[in-house]
Amino acid sequence: MSTHHAFQTEVAQLLHLVTHSLYSNKDIFLRELISNASDACDRLRFEALDHAALFEDAPALEVRVGFDAEAKTLTISDNGIGMSEAEAIEHLGTIAKSGTKAFMSRLSGDQQKDAQLIGQFGVGFYSGFIVADRITVESRRAGLPPEQGVRWVSEGTGEFETEALTRAERGTCITLHLRDDASEYLTRWKLKGIIAKYSDHISLPILMRKEEWDADKGESVLRDEWEQVNAASALWTRPKKDLSEQQYSDFYQAISHDYEAPLAWSHNRVEGTTEYTQLLYIPAKAPHDLWNRDKKPGVKLYVRRVFIMDEVEALLPSYLRWVKGVIDSADLPLNVSRELLQESRDVKAIREGNTRRVLALLEDLAQQGVEPAAADATDATADAEAAPSNDKYRRFYAEFGAVLKEGLGEDFGNRERIARLLRFASTQSDAVAVSLADYKARMKAGQKAIYYLTADNLDAAKSSPQLELFRKKGIEVLLMTDRVDEWALSFLHDFDGTALQSVAKGAVDLGQLQDEAEKQATEAAAEQYKPLLERLKTVLADKASDVRMTARLVDSPACLVVGEGELSNQLTRMLKAAGQ
Ligand code: ADP
Ligand code: MG
Repeated sequence: MSTHHAFQTEVAQLLHLVTHSLYSNKDIFLRELISNASDACDRLRFEALDHAALFEDAPALEVRVGFDAEAKTLTISDNGIGMSEAEAIEHLGTIAKSGTKAFMSRLSGDQQKDAQLIGQFGVGFYSGFIVADRITVESRRAGLPPEQGVRWVSEGTGEFETEALTRAERGTCITLHLRDDASEYLTRWKLKGIIAKYSDHISLPILMRKEEWDADKGESVLRDEWEQVNAASALWTRPKKDLSEQQYSDFYQAISHDYEAPLAWSHNRVEGTTEYTQLLYIPAKAPHDLWNRDKKPGVKLYVRRVFIMDEVEALLPSYLRWVKGVIDSADLPLNVSRELLQESRDVKAIREGNTRRVLALLEDLAQQGVEPAAADATDATADAEAAPSNDKYRRFYAEFGAVLKEGLGEDFGNRERIARLLRFASTQSDAVAVSLADYKARMKAGQKAIYYLTADNLDAAKSSPQLELFRKKGIEVLLMTDRVDEWALSFLHDFDGTALQSVAKGAVDLGQLQDEAEKQATEAAAEQYKPLLERLKTVLADKASDVRMTARLVDSPACLVVGEGELSNQLTRMLKAAGQ
């Protein structure tokens, strides 16, 4: 007795998009299905830490890939956790994850990019329909009796069917009934090639049947014997010198589902009171959900090569949530829970070690090929031309610079280091390329503070009347246009002994840079226009807390400033927009 089910609307839409937009990238279906098989084995191993009986009589976890050229089927089976009927209906018929709508709105029609998105959003299973016009899933959850297995069948259109199944083996077997134009996947050579490319790092064995030349038949035949076709080496456990750039890059792409190679990585064995191996990557591109508050860091936790869990928040601070990689601890217990992780001293040490390592990696990138700061960069083009020499850091900064700034508020211990990594546009550079150190190096003699201005965008910043006096005096002002700037900079009172000051706040005291004559002129004007100022104050009583004469304007008649210590215009607007 089978039951009909309709796919959740989103799934049906997704299926359509996935099968159409990924057509030129068909190979990835195998990566996705093998990755699911591997996840299922990881999950079994994890659950079995507390319930060893779940292993039943097959403790050796593995994935098998087989095919039948005559029947035109491809099967991917695992002896992992498996699914009950209810789980199959839920996991293979709905999309629990919230990002689906976002996913669909982001499909660009560019197949490469779309293929990358698919992994990020975890819609992997449905990619089977790129090559199959029918998929059968047979499964039994570990721990359930054989009669409580399930068969799930769908043609990838609007609906699927499920029925009860008696299945002795625990785990899942997925059978793809290949479309006529997907028969290329019916050779061992082709499948093995894809596995080597995408799934070599999977730390459990992937098996295929051996192939042998049959002289009588004059063709190759598959034997009943299975052999392992992936390296299954936990890459991070191998010495650096044995690993090529390509291997590091492939591993990154496999764990991150990113289509692009990483920008940089750092691989270390850390010894001391806490022992662990860290392999951390900086992606080349920001993920779609970088700004999602709930986004968890992409770091996987292993304990002595056993996978424990994904997306471990405790291993990195939130401002480094875009870092991907693997931590393999020698000290943590295998049955460590998320709650325990939050409290563990070892984890704290690892987190600090990871943070230091990422910051050091960024410092290296920032240093690469940078000439000593030009003593007098006179215009933006000079800066822009220097860009290629430090291309990696620029690329990094364009993607993640704004998130990095959150660190000023989040990680007091590393504030100075983070501040050194920041880059801004300025009145002398349209490119977001001026570091606080560069700025300091070309401050005018007698200049007391690092001046900055926050605005919604560069044009607005550049045309701000607040800059008039600074322009006239030739004083550089940093122009900040990220939403987080205002908030983040409120945590950075000074840099390397020099105060930071917003030019839009309070009275600007240019100290010695303001000549006596000007000061006197301002004071004289204040005296002369006292009645006018008084009148304006009265009229604007409920709108402005003060009205005063200023030396900061050159061409404009008036401008708004906020009091020292008050919320700035930009922050006020931001809070309003957020409904505060
Ligand atoms: P994701 O892997 O990102 O969760 P998928 O679309 O690849 O998304 O898979 C959806 C869900 O289906 C998985 O989360 C899992 O619960 C279930 N699933 C898929 N394949 C298997 C399998 N081989 N064994 C057990 N569960 C599976
Ligand atoms: Mg998956």
